[in-house]
Amino acid sequence: MDLQIAKWRDDVRSPVLLKIDDLANIEIKKSNSKELQIGEDWGHCAFDKNSMWDFLTTQLFNRFPNIKTTFFLVTKQRASMTKTGKYSYNKAMDGDDKFIDFLRYLYKNPQVELSYHGTTHGVAGERVEDFVQEWEMFDSLDEAVDTISKGEELFKSVLGSYPMGGKYCGYKEGKFGKESISKSGFKWWCFHEDNFIWDKNSTDSRYTYDVGFINGVVNIPTTVDASNLSLKIINRLFSRKYLKSLYLYFKEGKTVEKHIESLYNNRQIISVYEHTSPYMTNDTIQYPNIVTDIDNLNLIFSLLENKDVWYATCNEVADYFIDKSKVTLEVEENHFILIAKEKLNNVLTLTLPYNTKDYEVINSQGKKVAEFLRKENTLYCTYAFEINEPYTISEL
Ligand SMILES: [Zn+2]
Repeated sequence: MDLQIAKWRDDVRSPVLLKIDDLANIEIKKSNSKELQIGEDWGHCAFDKNSMWDFLTTQLFNRFPNIKTTFFLVTKQRASMTKTGKYSYNKAMDGDDKFIDFLRYLYKNPQVELSYHGTTHGVAGERVEDFVQEWEMFDSLDEAVDTISKGEELFKSVLGSYPMGGKYCGYKEGKFGKESISKSGFKWWCFHEDNFIWDKNSTDSRYTYDVGFINGVVNIPTTVDASNLSLKIINRLFSRKYLKSLYLYFKEGKTVEKHIESLYNNRQIISVYEHTSPYMTNDTIQYPNIVTDIDNLNLIFSLLENKDVWYATCNEVADYFIDKSKVTLEVEENHFILIAKEKLNNVLTLTLPYNTKDYEVINSQGKKVAEFLRKENTLYCTYAFEINEPYTISEL
């Protein structure tokens, strides 16, 4: 039988991830209004009206409840962008009960993953350009690993366990990035801004649209910068970002719709990159951000609405990839066995392409354990298979 291990769970075309940077215990007032305005919260305001979470829920998640979000959490008090810049409120993740309770709510929410995004995010200089990102500050591997360890302990003290993965601050790995991540025992990491392949025509070989291992850690690529606007977002017509989209379209024939379609057709990961807030301590707007991109986000997720995708967290994608990497599938006629040295983390999907019949899976005790489901002319079966145990596929 032409039995295979599927690239992704349930043999979908693409996993879809929403990755949001800089969840932090921060509020930054920009208006004179006493009430919180949209965009002024990085997480500190929890469930309040117009908070980051309230905005995401009412403007995106209510319409697309299947979306799974991985937040990148700044664990300690985050640095300002310049020495003189000030947040209205800025504390570590354990700085007040309101934020602790909010983080614990998110941690338990099955649609959300909380991951690691440094301690202070870096250190401020005189100008914004002088800001040094956290991993660029480290002068030795030991210093990098010690700092990560302190951040992880703080994470654990609030949430009860260590983060499984994370992302460099500002995507800057410094001299000890890769080694520090693998030495710290992370399962997965977002190593690069891989969307530069698309929006900057980058040929940097580090960028990829495929999941892989870097120093033994699963690399979850970042493939869609959600501030690349669709030309349909005409309420942003005169913005710099819209002009960039027009330029990419007329100069190179590119649209964000075509980019997503291409990732989907090539069974690559669709991971959408965002920030919690447009505001920083200087007067510029940071892109991408959920507020200015909200219509574009709605458009992106509407494109994926009736597609064969898997809404996942970074950790779920990493688990599937690790399981797939550690097994060898041996097939003889209608019998198969998954050979591996250690147990699987989760379920695995097997496929039978171009098959018109219906099948079930029988274990070594003669008991039916799973059934193949049909998707067009391919059959697939997702199940928590035992390793090194024989199974039989029999026709229904
Ligand atoms: Zn960040």
